[in-house]
Amino acid sequence: MQNVAVLGATGSIGSSTLDVIARHPERMRASVLAAGSQVDALLALCRTHRPDHAVIADARHFDALRDGLRDAGLPTQAHADEDALDALVEGDACTTVVAAIVGAAGLRSTLAAARAGKRLLLANKESLVLAGELLTRAARDAGATVVPIDSEHNAIFQCLPDAHAHAGLKRICLTASGGPFRGRTRAQLADVTPAQAVAHPKWSMGPKISVDSATLMNKGLEVIEAHHLFGLEADRIDVLVHPQSLVHSLVEFVDGSTLAQLGNPDMRTALAVGLAWPERVSSGVGGLDLLQHGRLDFEAPDLDAFPCLGLAYAALRAGGTAPAQLNAANEVAVSAFLQGRIAFLAIPALVEDTLAALPPVPADTLEVLRDADRAARHHAQAALAAHAKG
Ligand code: NAD
Ligand code: MG
Repeated sequence: MQNVAVLGATGSIGSSTLDVIARHPERMRASVLAAGSQVDALLALCRTHRPDHAVIADARHFDALRDGLRDAGLPTQAHADEDALDALVEGDACTTVVAAIVGAAGLRSTLAAARAGKRLLLANKESLVLAGELLTRAARDAGATVVPIDSEHNAIFQCLPDAHAHAGLKRICLTASGGPFRGRTRAQLADVTPAQAVAHPKWSMGPKISVDSATLMNKGLEVIEAHHLFGLEADRIDVLVHPQSLVHSLVEFVDGSTLAQLGNPDMRTALAVGLAWPERVSSGVGGLDLLQHGRLDFEAPDLDAFPCLGLAYAALRAGGTAPAQLNAANEVAVSAFLQGRIAFLAIPALVEDTLAALPPVPADTLEVLRDADRAARHHAQAALAAHAKG
């Protein structure tokens, strides 16, 4: 029996994970469920999935979690805070960890899973952007199997299962849907609202990644993610806009051969790959009917209307703490945009301003990266406050 810890259980990836797990009660179960602050949603999941442990990161909700579990007559133990989460991730409570907390908040538990040598289904891309070298080294040293849970990287993983065997590999190409504003000019993006930005045409996802998809920062974060997962330099990672979101990414070899992975846009496929690899299990996602879709289109990304993609390439090339700063400034900007405090185009502006103000330094320890993350958040918050006054 595969015991799975689902971190970010109440989110979009969390709910897709639990859907796949529930299809295979004979081989896997959710043994740990963790969420940020949505205690009622976590309790509801505990009633359905009956895990051994439930963790709420926001300790103010601990009493509600403990009392709710007791009132429901469940054997599930209640825990609060990051220390408890790390202990469960590292210990015997699970063999597999699905890292699906959103943002840099997921770094600690993701790193704990890598260091403990667990099978790591890695959806929390921000932790790779922030500390990719440390994370991949920790996973390698501990013998952790890392399966990327991002449709693009999961596609490349399927085409290139040995992420470090690069013989004959020329480049990889990440596909991008283009988001809800594909085809708009910069001027046409000035007044777009949070509601429009989170209405993704092809994927149903949490609010933060949906805004990232609309700015193309998501693709930028994915370029950095691909660099760490597959050990490729920026020049060998391309981006191609593909509005149908059926080709999830491509791998090109020196002999002219290109491999791609295709499928309907539903994260349960990637999650089933991660849970069962190298075996295959059903995911609830139907097969692809190309005849029904009829055509596959491709176009170049518009870096003028969507500067975040270029900013992410620049941060990757600059190296050191630059990707951590990019990620931190972006998290602050997206949160402010979702709260209606800044306009859509202020997101790339704030990220660019932060990167320009804080020159990167070499990043060889977690401490340096954490400091860079903090300094970038601080700078971005101060710039926001000045923006509000002005
Ligand atoms: P979401 O907003 O739907 O869910 C986020 C989850 O994280 C929630 O369960 C929330 O309670 C939890 N959380 C937030 N802060 C926390 C904290 N401090 N401690 C513990 N838990 C906390 O987000 P999502 O769309 O499921 O995305 C999750 C991650 O997966 C992100 O990093 C995202 O980039 C990545 N991802 C998502 C998709 C997708 O299709 N949704 C695809 C690829 C990658
Ligand atoms: Mg993706």
